Amino acid sequence: MNNVPPLDLTSQYEQIGDEIAAAVQKVLASGGYIGGPAVKAFEREFADYTGVSECVGCNSGTDALILALRALKIGPGDEVITTPFTFFASAEVISAVGATPVFVDIDPATFNMDVDRIETAITEKTKAIMPVHIFGQPVDMTRVMAIANHHNLAVVEDCAQAVGAEWESRKVGSIGHVGCFSFYPTKNLGACGDGGAVTTNDPELAATMRMLKEHGQSSRYFYEEIGYNSRLDAIQAVILSIKLRYLDTWNSQRRAIAELYNEFLSRVPGVAIPQELPKAKGVWNQYTIRLTNSEDTSPSPGEFRDSVRAKLQESGIGSMVYYPLPLHLQPVYKSLGYQPGQLPAAESVCREVLSLPMFPELSGDRQERVIYGLKDCLARSVK
Ligand SMILES: *Cc1c(COP(=O)(O)O)cnc(C)c1O
Repeated sequence: MNNVPPLDLTSQYEQIGDEIAAAVQKVLASGGYIGGPAVKAFEREFADYTGVSECVGCNSGTDALILALRALKIGPGDEVITTPFTFFASAEVISAVGATPVFVDIDPATFNMDVDRIETAITEKTKAIMPVHIFGQPVDMTRVMAIANHHNLAVVEDCAQAVGAEWESRKVGSIGHVGCFSFYPTKNLGACGDGGAVTTNDPELAATMRMLKEHGQSSRYFYEEIGYNSRLDAIQAVILSIKLRYLDTWNSQRRAIAELYNEFLSRVPGVAIPQELPKAKGVWNQYTIRLTNSEDTSPSPGEFRDSVRAKLQESGIGSMVYYPLPLHLQPVYKSLGYQPGQLPAAESVCREVLSLPMFPELSGDRQERVIYGLKDCLARSVK
């Protein structure tokens, strides 16, 4: 029987492998491996796609976030409000620039930061809000921008999982002051290696980020700031330019897969399907359910979910746990002083979440295998 992997990068490569090989060959023969016309072209195309005036390519999504925070002059003594339910990099970058992450609890229905909790977390030290469009599902940006404008705060969107997603028909990454993207291979627009970009409508911020990603160099061998070596290379840029043309098709395939999952899983007892806000158009980097009867049956945190996952694995169905421990309880953040129970929604979601196979090329019959396999494992798990 065919196994179903949680994700599959090779079938996408097979689709466009010839196109990529030809473009990469051209870069190899050109001798221009860093910067140059390929990077400029991709930056222009990605700015147009996102609906902003400026895009700066860089080495990763992590660096994109660091460049944004640095350009906004966020550093020691400052606080940035974000979500505890995200990939570590979202908070890591706040600490990396010397500032302090302040975590607010999430809405378990969307997995995103609960925007109703932002205002109570604001202090005199708050400089920015960092909404993370987790799993490709947009945060309520109307509310975030209203709060930010009222309190004169910057907004850095972490769009790493949400390239192409829309809030009220506007692309994420075009609504806050800076949008930060990752082209890590498993993201919806994935390079064949590391890559990232920042987007903005502010030419001054763009110029600062462009300088910072090039060692803080203002003109050749003259330095204004302590910066980074964080460039997007030409080979990744041509690959991304090709893939960008397919992105909307791939994202709508993901949407169709999510709709089918929703339809079949919405009435399964003990399963909570992910919710999309009415003004949001998500791009489903992950399709993540919650196993909600875990509380009654688990002797220890996450054990019920883990047992379902193991049973699925035995029947050849891969799944993932994004994320098993919220950031406020990570060992590295012990010094911030958060206690278990303090952000209860994020904590219980970490015990309940299971991400099912999701990639554009997932066929209908393999998806059916996942759905029936999951129902069967649940029936065998619940007494
Ligand atoms: C992947 C990811 C990042 C970091 O991107 P890299 O390119 O891996 O550095 C940041 N935030 C979120 C939410 C991510 O998923």
